[in-house]
Amino acid sequence: EVRVRFAPSPTGMFHVGGARSALFNWALAQQSGGRFVLRIEDTDAARNRPEWTEGIISALAWIGVDGGSPCFEGPYFQSAYEQQHREAAALLRKDGRAYHCTCTREEVKARTGSEHQGYDGHCRDLGRTEGALRFRTPDDGVTVVEDQVRGTVEFPNDAMEDFVIARGDGSPLFVLANVVDDVEMRITHVVRAEEHLSNTPKQQLLWAALGHPPPVWAHVPVIVNEKRQKLSKRRDKVALESYRDEGYLPEAMVNYLMLLGWGPGDDREIMPWAEMVPLFSLADVNLSPAFFDEKKLRAFNGEYIRALPLEVFIRRCAPWLDADWDRDTFARVAELAQTRVAVLSEITANVDFLFLAEPVHDQASWDKAMKPGAAEMLSGYAARVETVNWDPESLKTALEEVGAGHGLKLGKAQAPIRVAVTGRTVGLPLFESIEVLGRERTLDRLRTALA
Ligand code: GLU
Repeated sequence: EVRVRFAPSPTGMFHVGGARSALFNWALAQQSGGRFVLRIEDTDAARNRPEWTEGIISALAWIGVDGGSPCFEGPYFQSAYEQQHREAAALLRKDGRAYHCTCTREEVKARTGSEHQGYDGHCRDLGRTEGALRFRTPDDGVTVVEDQVRGTVEFPNDAMEDFVIARGDGSPLFVLANVVDDVEMRITHVVRAEEHLSNTPKQQLLWAALGHPPPVWAHVPVIVNEKRQKLSKRRDKVALESYRDEGYLPEAMVNYLMLLGWGPGDDREIMPWAEMVPLFSLADVNLSPAFFDEKKLRAFNGEYIRALPLEVFIRRCAPWLDADWDRDTFARVAELAQTRVAVLSEITANVDFLFLAEPVHDQASWDKAMKPGAAEMLSGYAARVETVNWDPESLKTALEEVGAGHGLKLGKAQAPIRVAVTGRTVGLPLFESIEVLGRERTLDRLRTALA
């Protein structure tokens, strides 16, 4: 049985890179009828916060990774297994695979002459009974990591120091806790970010010392921004939550994240989750850094929005509409809006003119539209609006005629009218907007703009 895991540390907002790793694991579990274990690695008490744990769980649920599927197991909390981590440390000590060491950093440095030399094995055979516990690494040969993405990666053992697995007070280090949990949870595949590759030879030695063959390893490529820099929370918009709050659809997000380092092998990009699951394969994951292209993600999202049935689109706009905005009125412009927004949050500015007593006032838009001649447009059009047939075609013809009277093409004639009526220089098609707004309110706004 395939048992994969996702093991985030709750030390910050949930990152798109974490979401990508989670989805790769989720696809593996689902395609094989295996299990996906969520394990919160919460042992760094100083850096953990409960709200970040909640953020991870709710963000995963948003992209469909939760207990709604029989594949899902957990969440487990690493801090609950400290006893097992301590027992494993004691076992390794008893078997002679680990030994106590009392050396200070300064002592090691004085002996080796360098900060970077690593531990020199001084306490290896001194039979100490206290101090930090170090794992005895082989002196020669290589540790060979078979990685599904990176191929065979060899780590010379003489470059691997005897590393610490538990502190002097007995508390286990992350490298040990991570392996013990994977062993006890019977994890078969460890699929995670490339940054963990350097820990892997140590972890593989621990797996062996605990009596188990290593899991299948797969280290997925880093994600970079448009400057080819590793995505970082200080520089880039990386929190999954911020995409959710901007009105990205989870299905678009899932689709896009899956393509960060993987592809179905043909030209298709837009592909629903259910179709990707059976096609996903670690062997097809790229080595090269994956570019997180926000523009492309937006374009994906726009496509997903346009593909929604109208009533679903209307329902999903709800969080971006004020509770007291009339839903029937919104429904009349929803189809127009659906073809124009790339993220759902844009809906608000596209339709607010229908619901606000007065359109928003933005001085820059106003200055841009209200050029010399604008007053003539406003008054001329107001006169026509009083009696014109109330349909978009007639509303348009009327403005064309008013414009022509002043030597203006429709585009130019339209600008002051649009700003007067909607408050903005861009938005939904103008004459459909006016139709829905109604004669009285339109007249009112044209006259207000003239005053
Ligand atoms: N808790 C580790 C992290 O958040 C996970 C390491 C792993 O997946 O093995 O980076």
